[in-house]
Amino acid sequence: MTSVATLGSHCSLQVLKGAKDEGLKTILICEKKRERLYKRFPFIDEFIMVDSFKELLDQKCQIILEQNDAVLIPHGTLIAQMSSEEIESIKTPVFGNKWILRWESDRTMKENLMREAGLPVPKPVNNPNEIENLVIVKRQGAAGGKGYFMASSEKEYHAKREQLIKDGTISNDETLYIQEYAAGVLAYLQFFYSPLREELEFFGVDQRHESDIEGLARIPSNTQLTMDKVPSFNVIGNSPLVLRESLLEQAYTMGDDFVQASNRLVKPGMNGPFCIEGVYDENAKFTSFEFSARIVAGTNIYMDGSPYYSLLYGESLSMGRRIAREIKIARNTGKLDKITT
Ligand code: ATP
Repeated sequence: MTSVATLGSHCSLQVLKGAKDEGLKTILICEKKRERLYKRFPFIDEFIMVDSFKELLDQKCQIILEQNDAVLIPHGTLIAQMSSEEIESIKTPVFGNKWILRWESDRTMKENLMREAGLPVPKPVNNPNEIENLVIVKRQGAAGGKGYFMASSEKEYHAKREQLIKDGTISNDETLYIQEYAAGVLAYLQFFYSPLREELEFFGVDQRHESDIEGLARIPSNTQLTMDKVPSFNVIGNSPLVLRESLLEQAYTMGDDFVQASNRLVKPGMNGPFCIEGVYDENAKFTSFEFSARIVAGTNIYMDGSPYYSLLYGESLSMGRRIAREIKIARNTGKLDKITT
């Protein structure tokens, strides 16, 4: 019997509920400290208890998953806690393309793929002495916005960097990545590409709420000027957003271009859920600073179904359930190898 497994964090509840609704067995790889939390949810059939998610790589864990014919759904926690090599070494079939996750984690590879897809990316700044406009300074890997900061001059860059080193937020030898800041309305565009249907589906849009950059807007500017804390972009939660309908066409085009570029650069391409993340400016021009090549936590806001999926499918489908449905169809038609790596 095919089952769906995932790590207990990020969007695991949505993923496993969706699998259960599609009649598949559900397995949670659960850290012992979170057992009480996840045992509250009745749709989880089996728990694999671990001290650390890295135990997913152990033979013991892999054997249980194999015995259950499990498909592993990767999400942000897998990427945050494991290296690309470790992810690529997972023996359990991974939903989507595990090879593309390396392109998400490595800043240079990420930029190459975004450029190949023709996404309008912010201008990179190679050296702090080249800062001319407002920039955002990021850390390597998926740091989730923690320790990121803005600067509008080389002097400000060094002052803030020093302060973050002093705070212990970043280390002295850490290579930071600088790019021009894109101002506007944040939009995280969520898609699903089905290699079975050979079709791109637009699922929905979310906005991330990031602390403490958002909290700043509640503080009068004269008080802000007296504060010396460097605000961060740490994600706290997500909320829904609907795009103007006239922007949908461009969203689909970006999604299609991304799928095609992925297919050229990293076989078998961008299968399954993904997200293009960026900002719309005052002319509704989109600048994309990031992509996620797997399900994003922002889809959690549509656990009861996304508005666009109601239009496409005439029923309430979460992203978790959409994934499970793809697995079911692939299993029933002997095509599991087309949707997993
Ligand atoms: P995650 O893995 O959680 O997506 P990350 O470490 O890859 O995070 P980004 O998504 O690139 O980081 O950036 C984190 C946040 O910083 C974004 O959600 C956005 O609010 C802001 N941000 C990043 N790049 C830019 C930019 N060029 N212009 C404006 N805001 C930006």
